[in-house]
Parts: sequence; structure tokens; C-alpha cells
Amino acid sequence: MNKKGLLIVVSGPSGAGKGTICKEVLSRRNDIFVSTSATTREPRDGEVHGVNYFFVSREEFEKKIEEEAFIEYAEVYTNLYGTPKDTVLEKLNKGENILLEIDIQGALQVKKRYPEGVFIFILPPSMEELKNRIIGRGSETPESLERRFSSAFEEIEFVNQYDYYIINDQVKKASDLMEAIIDAERCKVIEDIEDIVKMFKEEG
Ligand code: 5GP
Repeated sequence: MNKKGLLIVVSGPSGAGKGTICKEVLSRRNDIFVSTSATTREPRDGEVHGVNYFFVSREEFEKKIEEEAFIEYAEVYTNLYGTPKDTVLEKLNKGENILLEIDIQGALQVKKRYPEGVFIFILPPSMEELKNRIIGRGSETPESLERRFSSAFEEIEFVNQYDYYIINDQVKKASDLMEAIIDAERCKVIEDIEDIVKMFKEEG
């Protein structure tokens, strides 16, 4: 039986902690693979080409858009980010579960093209806490802080376009919930149930 992999799409406002939760879930599981996006932003200290992102020039990125090489792409805070189409679809067809940690604009594009994906939205416990987390990173200028905070307000309204929400008040609890969602989705009765019934009948 060749069951297709699950496409797990995770978004949420800056400071909600989606990166931390995804990292935690990925460290617990060896049946979920992360897709490496392309971006035009500069690598940060310690980031590695091909691991964290494929760091490309704007020209290279635009060429890939023309070649329709992305499932989705979006401009996030002046930089372009995109999910490579071929590798993701290939892996899903092989039965691998793929996790995309992408912004809301990108997630909504994926939902149009691939509605069978699982769309998860990470929320902070409160807006106050979200502000504290963004300030706590210490990497923001007052302007970028203000920009991230006001976009967070707008972004939260998009939660109703997602299948699930997780309030990230504790990393462990939030990661447990994400695992539970993924496990439940893997057990959903979908079109391949016929294959499963056949498998049992052949055995019996
Ligand atoms: P950062 O530059 O901090 O790594 O990421 C900034 C934002 O871009 C985050 O919200 C992240 O989820 C989003 N992002 C990363 N990769 C992609 C992608 O391939 N597509 C889209 N649409 N957003 C992405």
C-alpha cells in the first residue's frame, strides 16, 4: 500500500513561537521532514546554505518564479521566500510527511493548490506576551518591532482559514498538541481506506 505523505503547514505571527514548536516536534519524530525554502534574505550567523535555506539572489528567485518552481512564494518583510515544488511533491508521493513553516500569504496559496494539507496556526498566549517575546529577541530595531507587532494583529485574524490552532503557552504542551494533530490526521479515513481494507482482506 502506498499511502501519500501528509503536508503539514504551520504559520503564526512573529513571536508566537512556531519555529520553537516545529523544532521540538521535528526533534521528537523521525517520520516528519522539513522542506528547505529558498530566500533572498542574507544568511544570519550560523545559517548554512541548503540547510536553513537556499540563499539566492533576487534575480535567481525571479527566474524560479517564471519557471513555476515554487508551490508558493511570498514577500515577507522585504525578502522573498518560496517552497520548492518538485522536491515537496516528490516526497509526498513517496509517502513522506513534510512540514512547511511558512508565512500566512504562502500558506493560503498552498491551501488553494493542495487543500488536503493540514493547516496549523500557532497563537501566543496573549498579545502582551507576544510583544515581550519579540522584544526579548533583542534583534529588532524600534521600527521593525512596531512593524512586526502591528502585522501580528492583522495576521491573527487569518486563524479562521486554518484547520487547527495551538496556543503556545508552554512549548511542551504546544508540541504535544501538534504531534496529536499530526497523528490524528494520519488516521483519517480518506480515499486510501479501500487499500487498507484490501490489505486486511488479503491477509485474512
Ligand atoms: P526568517 O527570515 O525569520 O527565517 O523567516 C521570516 C518569515 O518567513 C517566517 O514567518 C517564516 O515562516 C517565513 N518563511 C520561511 N520560509 C518560507 C517560505 O518558503 N514561504 C513563505 N511564504 N514564507 C516562508
